[in-house]
Amino acid sequence: MVSKTPIIAADAKGLERAARALEQGGLVAVPTETVYGLAARADRDDAVQSIYRAKGRPDNNPLIVHVACLDEAQSFAEFSPEAQTLAKQHWPGPLTLVLPRKAGAPLAHAVSAGLPTLALRVPAHPAMRALLKLCDFPLAAPSANRSGFISPTSAQHVAASLDGRIDLILDGGPCETGLESTIIAVRESGRQEILRPGAFFAEQSVAVTSAGIEAPGQLSRHYAPGKPVRLFAKVPADDEFMIGFGPIKGDCNLSEDGDLSQAAQQLYACLHLGALAGAARIAIAPIPETDIGVAINDRLRRAAR
Ligand code: AMP
Ligand code: MG
Repeated sequence: MVSKTPIIAADAKGLERAARALEQGGLVAVPTETVYGLAARADRDDAVQSIYRAKGRPDNNPLIVHVACLDEAQSFAEFSPEAQTLAKQHWPGPLTLVLPRKAGAPLAHAVSAGLPTLALRVPAHPAMRALLKLCDFPLAAPSANRSGFISPTSAQHVAASLDGRIDLILDGGPCETGLESTIIAVRESGRQEILRPGAFFAEQSVAVTSAGIEAPGQLSRHYAPGKPVRLFAKVPADDEFMIGFGPIKGDCNLSEDGDLSQAAQQLYACLHLGALAGAARIAIAPIPETDIGVAINDRLRRAAR
């Protein structure tokens, strides 16, 4: 296949080029510590609409707005004292806060898909941080994959899904965490709800009162490799590509040491391998439901749905 979207290194020159493309309303895939994001300027409707078009994303599934710092985030949403505490403790990092959107916030209507709330994050990845510094606007950035399919943790994953549909791919190597951010909604009362488990796993400091479903798309089939997925597998059938974990062997292994952080980092790469393999189906070893394993199992359940 002839590649149509340039893949360039996320160095100073690459970042300058990306910032120019974004300034003009273009679409740029960028590395973050979680997964690769598909960025567009969040203050322009046409730019944000083009994210939905490129991904084939339903227009009722809102986007996360990435900003350089807490001060900037506060110009777009109402931060209760509880939200401020969370942001101060965990930003920059893989935590997204869903907060009441400020009336008149200078953002495209489509970023929050008609909801009165806004999802905000200050990412930690040095390339994404440098890019946000170069841009004098915030960046809307969902995962850089076709809607519903496996999230990308490398520039090659992005190209496999979106080549020719976006302007540029910044290559910053494999993502360190490998799973999407944890999304926590902080209500005006201060009550906190985990809307999506993720890379940041809640400590006791987060009083989780319920796992509410708020945004459309949160329950739907997602992260799908395009073939049937069987969970809790110990031995593969003849027509299965086996993804192992710990002592359970496979065609690839999430972590031979049984390390959950490593498993999170490898998860999407292994699912991509399974999707490309000749086998008709994918089988996956059991993953413990502890720490980041909670988020891994959330993604696996949706991939298998
Ligand atoms: P992605 O970056 O592709 O994982 O998609 C962003 C996620 O953030 C989606 O699952 C959305 O449902 C969620 N999200 C974005 N904005 C909001 C919001 N205002 N309320 C609840 N969830 C949101
Ligand atoms: Mg996504």
